[in-house]
This record gives sequence, C-alpha cells and structure tokens, in this order.
Amino acid sequence: MPLSDDVDSLLKSLSECVANCTRCHELATTRTQTVFGVGNPLARLCFLGEAPGADEDRQGEPFVGRAGQLLTRIIEACTLRREDVYILNVLKCRPPGNRNPLPDEVSNCREFLNAQLEAIRPEYLCCLGAVAAQTLLDTTQSIGRMRGRFFDYQGIRVMCTYHPAYLLRNPAAKRDVWDDMKWLMGEMGIELEGASGGS
Ligand code: URA
Repeated sequence: MPLSDDVDSLLKSLSECVANCTRCHELATTRTQTVFGVGNPLARLCFLGEAPGADEDRQGEPFVGRAGQLLTRIIEACTLRREDVYILNVLKCRPPGNRNPLPDEVSNCREFLNAQLEAIRPEYLCCLGAVAAQTLLDTTQSIGRMRGRFFDYQGIRVMCTYHPAYLLRNPAAKRDVWDDMKWLMGEMGIELEGASGGS
C-alpha cells in the first residue's frame, strides 16, 4: 500500500519537471503556467480531461472554469468532493485559442500522464470526452460507442463519458452522463440512494 507522503513527493517532483518542460515550443511560450493536476494522491478515481483552458491557465488548476464547475457538481452528485478524487488532463499546457491538442503535443505530454497514473495508481479512471478517451486508449472510436463499459489501461478500470463542456452546449446529454456516473458509482460500491444528478 503506497504511503501518501511517497506519492505526494513523486507527484511534486513530476510537477516540477512539467513546470520546466519546453518540449512543445508554442505551448511553452504561450502558457501562463503549467496545469499539473489536483486532488487526492491516493484517490480511487481519477477524472481525465483534455487540456487547460483560459481559466485553468490563469489559476494553475484543472477544471476551474464553467466546464470545471459542472464537473464539480457531477462529482458532488456522486456524493464525493473534488478533494476525494484526482483531476488531470492529457495536456498540461493550454493550447492557444483552446484549439484541439496536436498529435505531437499529445505524444510529448504522454510521459507525464503515464507517470502521474503510475504514481496515483487509481482503481478507476473516467475519461471526459473524445480527446481523453482516444488518447488514453489509443483508439478512434467515438465516445458514444465507448460509453457503458470498462476498458483496461494498465490495470485501471477505465470508463468514458461526455466532456462537461459538451454538456454546456448540449444539456440533454446530462442525463447520459448521470446514467454513466450512477453505473460507475455502483461498480465502485458507492451508495447513491436518493441522489439526483444535479444540473
Ligand atoms: N477542459 C478540460 O479538458 N480540462 C480542463 O482542465 C478544463 C476544461
């Protein structure tokens, strides 16, 4: 069983490497700061997003903008708190203008993502949106086709659902995400009796 201090110090030294990273010239020269990850280093559950946006770049924390606030409500609807889980992104730098990550950027950052997951060793990982799911699982399948089942990634049980930014544009899909989360919580043995999906 890893000790919290060990994982903390691993993550701390990794976050220092990330903060000094210049592998992607454009990202390294346009970012305000890197956005490493946040939460419980011993979390059973990680949420994986795509890349920091403007708010995250400014604050240095993943999922703090509008989509992030919706993610927080989803986590709370699962009777958890942000501090109980670990939240991270495929890219640690904001792509200018919030464009999609480029393949080279994803592969440059992959080592950091893998090292984070190796340090935390979560039991479960929820991929938020296609970039996270397709990158982690090395597939071109759509989220729609990947929902509702577990994939294995180095012993982690991985599930995929829609990105909260997509939910802001398509509120009708919130029901699907809530169904996915209820299923995940059931698999994790987390009781949701009477909990409602929030809004
Ligand atoms: N979208 C993401 O994928 N990650 C963030 O950190 C914020 C928005």
